[in-house]
Amino acid sequence: MQVSIPDLAKQVGVLPGHVLAVLQELGIAYEHADFTADEETLELVREAVQEHKGSTKVTLPPNRTPRDLAFALGVPDKEVQKTLVVKLKKMATLTQTLESGVAEKVAEALGFQLVWATEVVKPVRPKEVDKQPVVGKLLRPPVVTILGHVDHGKTSLLDYIRKANVAEKEHGGITQHIGAYQVELQGKKITFLDTPGHEAFTAMRARGAQCTDIAVLVVAADDGIMPQTIEAISHAKAAKVPIIVALNKIDKPNANPDRVMQQLPRHELVPEAYGGETIVCPVSAHTGEGIDHLLEMILLQADVMDLQADPKAPAKGIVIEAKLERGRGTVATVLVQQGTLRSSDVVSVGSTWGKIKAMGDYTGERLAEAGPSTPAEILGLNEVPKAGDLLVAAGDERSARDRSESMMEQERAQAMKHGRRRISLRDLRKRMEEGEVRDLNLILKSDVQGSVEAVRGLVDRLSEKSSEVNVRVIHSGLGSITESDILLASASEAGAICVGFNVKPEAGAKREAEKHKVEIRTYTIIYELIEDIEKAVKGMLAPKFEDEYQGTVEVRAVFKLTRAGKVAGCHVTDGKILRNSNVRVKRGAEIVYEGKVQSLRNVKQDVREMSYGQDCGLKFEGWEDFLEGDLVEAYEVVQVD
Ligand code: GDP
Repeated sequence: MQVSIPDLAKQVGVLPGHVLAVLQELGIAYEHADFTADEETLELVREAVQEHKGSTKVTLPPNRTPRDLAFALGVPDKEVQKTLVVKLKKMATLTQTLESGVAEKVAEALGFQLVWATEVVKPVRPKEVDKQPVVGKLLRPPVVTILGHVDHGKTSLLDYIRKANVAEKEHGGITQHIGAYQVELQGKKITFLDTPGHEAFTAMRARGAQCTDIAVLVVAADDGIMPQTIEAISHAKAAKVPIIVALNKIDKPNANPDRVMQQLPRHELVPEAYGGETIVCPVSAHTGEGIDHLLEMILLQADVMDLQADPKAPAKGIVIEAKLERGRGTVATVLVQQGTLRSSDVVSVGSTWGKIKAMGDYTGERLAEAGPSTPAEILGLNEVPKAGDLLVAAGDERSARDRSESMMEQERAQAMKHGRRRISLRDLRKRMEEGEVRDLNLILKSDVQGSVEAVRGLVDRLSEKSSEVNVRVIHSGLGSITESDILLASASEAGAICVGFNVKPEAGAKREAEKHKVEIRTYTIIYELIEDIEKAVKGMLAPKFEDEYQGTVEVRAVFKLTRAGKVAGCHVTDGKILRNSNVRVKRGAEIVYEGKVQSLRNVKQDVREMSYGQDCGLKFEGWEDFLEGDLVEAYEVVQVD
């Protein structure tokens, strides 16, 4: 529920700044005058706030305005402005940022002591890195992927950075465009992967390949946070990759960066300016404004992460993209992750191998060596590898071949294990008992925002009740279940189940789900969803059945036979119908019969199956009231697991 900070302060008899202090202590995100909490959390806040009663210490996030200060101190805006002018001889509008020293003096003049909030919530867990000082390990450039909603400027940003920072060749700029490039700033390099969008990012991860260190989330300042922005946030979080926000299009007259800043905390990205940890860089991919700052912030984040690799170790890398090119043969772009790849190395790549014939950098220039985080294009593999395949340098051709053969075996075994590893509600209990799972990850799609929140709330409560399993929603959003949701589910370590509430999976998503063995469950009643999870935890979930569509036939004539009653003369307009199909007969929007096929005939022969374009005679079990124009939908009831 939404709680107003001033109202709560008034109820308890403290100042709004005291409430802010408590929220900060508890790590609860707040936005302006409100925060969101359930009953229990609110009680906790209320209790903690009591302790501040009568205290003159008041908390405020840094870089605030006189209006914010007045809010925290619980005094009218005018009071603060008057103090500024009369006591400190400073002119300031109510919305201008106050220097911290000035804010402290104003508070003091009003009888308070100001304490600065440092952090509201921890939004991103920096990637766990090997902090052990290993001999031979050196800092390596960060690898960055750009994510965000369509048309928010991902491609433009990548293009601008490339044009402004890559030393182009004398004639005609970059000739060879490969899937990644590097820029240099203050003597430090940054590698950008050139496949923007979270689908590609998660598709690689689903194959076990993590090659991104930092995600830059592009949000257009004139459009704000959109559905794919939210998806991108969930995908980056699931990969535990820190996010830097690039607030793009600030050159546009209708840009509203403040609005985006206010939207971000709702998605657990609290900007630094609000006391959080998320770096937000206002930029324009058109004018180039702020882009150097963005690059500096990427380097800063990389410093914090202390990314290391050993250039002397055996070379290892990941395929970013690969294709067959006329005249050049197999061409693969790889990102070296460890060691140094040399232009004459023999390598095994996924289930293929080869001796490198030529190696080039992102400008098409020949490259003799490629160290950690360097993207390189290699020619000479025997077959085209897949994106996400692992590259390993081998000593000679024989060991390269052996290795790729054993990798093929491993992949096969992995695929089988992967297949078995996928989680489903039905086998949850068994897997819990075997000690295999402790997390049940859900991806939640719904038709309206209200139900997303309602389901999230209930799921959270469910998790609190059960000590055996953590039920977590790793992504929630509006609209049908998409391929990208399935990818996210299959990239999750413990697997995830896609739940649709009042929405269905898209056709492509269904196919992907079958391929990756991701369970999709759809519900129209929230409590049934909750009940199913509860039953699954207890191991009491009954098998679930679903209708699987087979085809549609149209009644084109009605024949009356003297002995056998009425027969529907039909034409199959889509798919097929079987002798044992279940059927639903529709007249306009109305369903006039639901039951089974009694007999299916072609001319005078009984047949097992009729398919698209064929004519047949149809009788239904216990029903003869069909009319010309009725549509018969055939389906099979299958058990879903
Ligand atoms: P993507 O779909 O995220 O890759 O977005 P694009 O890079 O294709 O950009 C979408 C549209 O926004 C294009 O028409 C760009 O020219 C425009 N655009 C991108 N960045 C900016 C910017 O900083 N300022 C302005 N005014 N337009 C931009």
